[in-house]
Amino acid sequence: MGDTVWWSCAGCGSYAELPAEESEGFDITCPDCAADMTPQWTWDDRQAA
Ligand SMILES: [Zn+2]
Repeated sequence: MGDTVWWSCAGCGSYAELPAEESEGFDITCPDCAADMTPQWTWDDRQAA
């Protein structure tokens, strides 16, 4: 099992949880509004804040 990545939608604010190894290198599109989703590392998100 790899890490889990939370993806957030910039368009409507929806979230999706995907295994990192399945989502790495892919462009994730929001199922609700078709906007691009941004990966959010919920437990390791302090590096750029
Ligand atoms: Zn959306």
